Amino acid sequence: MKLALLGGKPEVEEFIPYGKQYIDDEDIKAVSKVLKSPYLTTGPYVEEFEKKLCKFTGAKYAVAISNGTAALHATCYALGIGKDDEVITSPITFAASANCVLYCGGTPIFADINPKTWNIDPKKIEEKITEKTKAIIAVDFTGQAVEIDKIKAICQKHNLIFIEDAAHSIGTKYNDIAVGNLADMTTFSFHPVKTITSGEGGAILTNNEEYYKKMKLFRSHGITRDEKLLSKPNFHGYNEQIELGYNYRMTDIQAALGLSQLGKIDKFSNRRSEIVEKYNKAFENIPELIIQEEIKESKTTRHLYIIKLNKDKLNADRNEIYKALNAENVGLQVHYLPVYWHPYYQELGYKKGICPFAEDLYENIITIPLYYSLTDIEVENVINAVVKVVNYYKKGD
Ligand SMILES: *Cc1c(COP(=O)(O)O)cnc(C)c1O
Repeated sequence: MKLALLGGKPEVEEFIPYGKQYIDDEDIKAVSKVLKSPYLTTGPYVEEFEKKLCKFTGAKYAVAISNGTAALHATCYALGIGKDDEVITSPITFAASANCVLYCGGTPIFADINPKTWNIDPKKIEEKITEKTKAIIAVDFTGQAVEIDKIKAICQKHNLIFIEDAAHSIGTKYNDIAVGNLADMTTFSFHPVKTITSGEGGAILTNNEEYYKKMKLFRSHGITRDEKLLSKPNFHGYNEQIELGYNYRMTDIQAALGLSQLGKIDKFSNRRSEIVEKYNKAFENIPELIIQEEIKESKTTRHLYIIKLNKDKLNADRNEIYKALNAENVGLQVHYLPVYWHPYYQELGYKKGICPFAEDLYENIITIPLYYSLTDIEVENVINAVVKVVNYYKKGD
C-alpha cells in the first residue's frame, strides 16, 4: 500500500494521540465534591492523598506538591544542594531532572545510559563521581526501574544521596518493592500524560523525617505554625517564616482527582502491560526495529512505548520515518533530546559527545501511542502503520 506521506490512504482512519488521560464519572464526582466544599486548597484531600500514596508505596512520608518539577526542586532543597555541589543524572530525561539542580545553584553532571535498557548505567555513574558529588538523580525511563541495588551500593560507598525521578514509574516494583520506597527520596508527576493525573501535580516519597519536614516547609513559603519552631509563643494561628520556601502547594481539587485516579492504578497498569506485550510481540522479530530490554528485577508499569530504528537496515533517518508514520495518523513524540543538547545547556558549556549511547538513542527513537483507553483495534492499527512504513524504507538484501 502507498504511504500516506506519498498521497496514499492513511493506515489509521482517525488520528491516535501518543498519550492521553483517562477521566471517568467517579473522577468528575470527586472533583465536584471539593468544588462544593469549604476548602479548595490546603484542605483535607491533600492529606488524604498523601496518606494513600504512603499506603500504595509503603513509604513513611509523602509530600504532595504542585507538580513533578517542584517535587524534584524540593529534593535538592532538602539536601541543601548549592554552588559547589554536583548531582549526577541521566541525559535521556525531561529537562526538569537536571534543572532542579540548577535551581539550587548546583551543577548537573550527565552519566551515559545502558544502550540496551536505556536507563542510566551505574558504571558510568561511578566514572563521574568527584569530591563535589552530593547526589544521584536516577530516572526510571519509560517506567522501568533503574538498577536500584547497584546505585544504592554506589551511594553507600561514596556517601551520596539517591533520588529517584519516578515521573514515569508509579506502579512499578523492583524485586517486589514499590517505587517510592526504594530511594532516599522518590518524585512522582501527575501531569495528564503520566500514568495517573491530578491535572498538574507531583509528590515526594521518603522514609526520612528530616527531609520530609524540610520539604513540607519548602512547599509553603517556609512558613510554620509549629510551636516548637516558633521564636516565641503567641496567639492561635500565629506563624513565622523560618526558611525561604515557595508556593508549591497542591490544591484540594487536584488532590481529589489524584486520589480518585490512584484508586484505578492497577487497572491502568494492567492495560498498559497488555499493550506493551502486543507491541513487543509484533516488533521483536522485525530486524529493522530494536525494542527496549528490561532487567528481570523490574516489574514495570510502562509509561512510554518507544521503538528504536535499526539505522543500518533502513534507507531513511528517524525524522523521515517519523514524518511518514505521522502521516499514517499515528501520534508520535521523541523522548528525549539529551538534556545537555538543549541550547540553554549548550550555553552553559556542556559539550556534545559526552554521552554517546544517549545521543545514538535520541537520533533513532520514536514514541508510539500508549495509554489506558487505547483499544485493541487501535493497537492493531498502530502496528500495521509501523510495519507499512518500515517495509517501505527497509534496505533490500
Ligand atoms: C514529567 C516529568 C517531570 C516533570 O513533571 P511535571 O509534573 O511535568 O513538572 C520530571 N521528570 C520526568 C522524567 C518527567 O517525565
